[in-house]
Amino acid sequence: MVVIFGTLRIVLLCSLSGITLATKNPLLARDDACTALEAVLLGDVAYPNTTSYLQSANYWSIQQLETRPRCFVAPKSTKEVSTILRVLTQGNWPFTVKGGGHVPFSGGSSIENGVTIDLVHLNDIEVSHDRQTVSVSPGNRWINVTDILDPIGLAVVGGRDMDVGVSGLTLGGGISFFSGQYGWACDNVRRYEVVLASGRIVYASPQENNDLYWALRGGGGLNFGIVTRFDLVAFDQGEIWESSLSFPGTSNASAISLFQNLTIHGLPLDKGASGFVGINYHSSSGGYTTDIGLLHATVPSSSESIPAVFEPFQKISSATANSTVTGTVSTFIKNGATPYGRRWTWGNVVISASFPGEFLTEIMILFESRNVALLQNEGGDDIAPTALFQPIPLNVLQAMQKNGGNAMGLKPSNGPLIMISFPTSWTKAQNDEIVYDATRKLITDIEAKAKEYKVYTPFVYLNYADIKQEVQKGYGKENYARLVSIARKYDPQGKLAQLWKGYFKLDR
Ligand SMILES: Cc1cc2nc3c(=O)[nH]c(=O)nc-3n(C[C@H](O)[C@H](O)[C@H](O)COP(=O)(O)OP(=O)(O)OC[C@H]3O[C@@H](n4cnc5c(N)ncnc54)[C@H](O)[C@@H]3O)c2cc1C
Repeated sequence: MVVIFGTLRIVLLCSLSGITLATKNPLLARDDACTALEAVLLGDVAYPNTTSYLQSANYWSIQQLETRPRCFVAPKSTKEVSTILRVLTQGNWPFTVKGGGHVPFSGGSSIENGVTIDLVHLNDIEVSHDRQTVSVSPGNRWINVTDILDPIGLAVVGGRDMDVGVSGLTLGGGISFFSGQYGWACDNVRRYEVVLASGRIVYASPQENNDLYWALRGGGGLNFGIVTRFDLVAFDQGEIWESSLSFPGTSNASAISLFQNLTIHGLPLDKGASGFVGINYHSSSGGYTTDIGLLHATVPSSSESIPAVFEPFQKISSATANSTVTGTVSTFIKNGATPYGRRWTWGNVVISASFPGEFLTEIMILFESRNVALLQNEGGDDIAPTALFQPIPLNVLQAMQKNGGNAMGLKPSNGPLIMISFPTSWTKAQNDEIVYDATRKLITDIEAKAKEYKVYTPFVYLNYADIKQEVQKGYGKENYARLVSIARKYDPQGKLAQLWKGYFKLDR
């Protein structure tokens, strides 16, 4: 065995200097990807029933947890990522990449019987001397970043849940507490270090490979390469503030109309402000609540006061809960964390923020009837559906235009917008297809209603999209064609499209 590994190691090293693996070496052609990787990275390949494998198989949703790779490989440096990618693309072996493992869908960042590259050991975080930039390696979760930045009074535009990965959130867009001031997370990356399909290590910024820089800001990672470092814009930041309000029932019309008004008029005037409305079904009570989160990047000067932009919400009667809290970013993202251990799906529709009240009534009827049907299924009593409204106001759309704009193609003239997503969780695998189908139908029905009421936009937000939604096509024909041509330039043989299993890929 040792001899075989030794031979493989030599063959692989030869092949890395230009000889094609599978065709030149019959021994390697017979072998599998995990063995080939083990030959070049002794110790970093983990097989089932080992501690390292179990540690890597740590995913937020059960569907991803149930997807079992033949091995995990956990590189310790960019150079090792390069070696791994070269071995896999030259050997034509299917693989996927795991950052924080928070995509819910099976195969999102895990692969049945293939190789999952777990970036967990790439966990450096470095603050520049001038405090302008934080360089973050891709295995980090947001809590690792905020735990370092909070004590020194800095922040970056990042996630709102402690365990979500820096990689996936930033590559797909990245809605943050600080988006009103700075745009989404992807708009605040100064420079990427990227390993291409060939194993070549390149940099992407406004000055170097600026086409790749554009593509990585919202285009997702799968078609372009593995990002091994994000240089993020840093800014001074103290504690933040939140007001939480709860109302009984689904379509608290005054809450949603105030939220629309906040999105259209309030948020552009007070860029530190952000918020969301969640309509949540509770199986314990068999009823719905409308839950509002209003956040501000600056704590109001008096602990009693509320930022003026949020005052109208205090006037809605019938609140069953109304509280305010201040704290560090770490405190917020820890408190806001969504627990592991359930089955999940979601999908989203983005519409003009000025939708009429009748549209809201109609989509709430669609949402509730979908839920009634789901809950009546055998074993469906633990299904937990939510409709989550998030703003994309003009100030965010304006901030998205920096550095030549991002790949998502949203312009201030498209907005202001509101994204409605439908995160749904359950526990019984027998209900998987039922929940997926019902959620997809709900999205199609809401899109049809949005067209009828002339509030439809083709944009779909990648990070909350269902696997069947054609995300990049919603970025517009021109942007889609540009993404395809950039993918061809950096991966001329289309190896990533062919081998990197996952979703939200470009057609090539
Ligand atoms: C509880 C929870 C809270 C969330 N909160 C927010 C939020 O506040 N704002 C927001 O915008 N979104 C949010 N999301 C959505 C989240 O941004 C996406 O699910 C995101 O993809 C998760 O990133 P990850 O690294 O954890 O996921 P992973 O599942 O590890 O990866 C996601 C995708 O990125 C690819 N990938 C991973 N690392 C790399 C890399 N280094 N280079 C190239 N490709 C890579 C993977 O192959 C996969 O396709 C949340 C999700 C959850 C579950």
